[in-house]
Amino acid sequence: MPKHQRIAVYPGSFDPITNGHLDIIARASRLFDRIIVAVSKNPSKTPTFTFPERTRMITMTLKKLRLGKSVSVDYFEGLLVSYCRRVRACAVVRGLRAVSDFEYEFQMALMNRRLAKDVETVFLMPDERYVYLSSSLVKEVARLGGDLKAFVPPGVKAEIDSKKKQFERT
Ligand code: ADP
Repeated sequence: MPKHQRIAVYPGSFDPITNGHLDIIARASRLFDRIIVAVSKNPSKTPTFTFPERTRMITMTLKKLRLGKSVSVDYFEGLLVSYCRRVRACAVVRGLRAVSDFEYEFQMALMNRRLAKDVETVFLMPDERYVYLSSSLVKEVARLGGDLKAFVPPGVKAEIDSKKKQFERT
């Protein structure tokens, strides 16, 4: 890999990946040479979809979007900045929706900066259509029988349909 490549890590639970996440990936891919979508294996969260399921949905979706080799999927455990250093990323990409995201994201970004000065956090705003979209809201809409077409890619919709019952517990 050439030394000058600018690599960014886009970390998250992706439980499941939504069109909002995809919007951020597309924007980030125009700013960086490579984006690594890094699925969190954080044991403190109990996701609805298992780690292999979440990863599979992302891989399947990205393949269909034909973003090529510039976007790849991986996972991380433990400190995000340690992972960034391992993969030589210069930035962490996060999506900012409403003001409600700000406090938490601000805290995380400043803590990560304290831990690793060389890793910058970059916030991107999604298209207005996705500002109120979250994985948990998608699961809630699915549980109540709403149409998910506008919120998740078709393959993900199918996976959600097959897991619907479980949403009542998360
Ligand atoms: P986490 O548990 O780390 O917040 P998520 O999968 O919920 O993981 O989100 C990963 C990142 O994507 C976060 O920065 C989040 O703010 C962002 N994100 C999630 N949904 C959207 C959306 N609809 N528009 C823009 N950014 C989003």
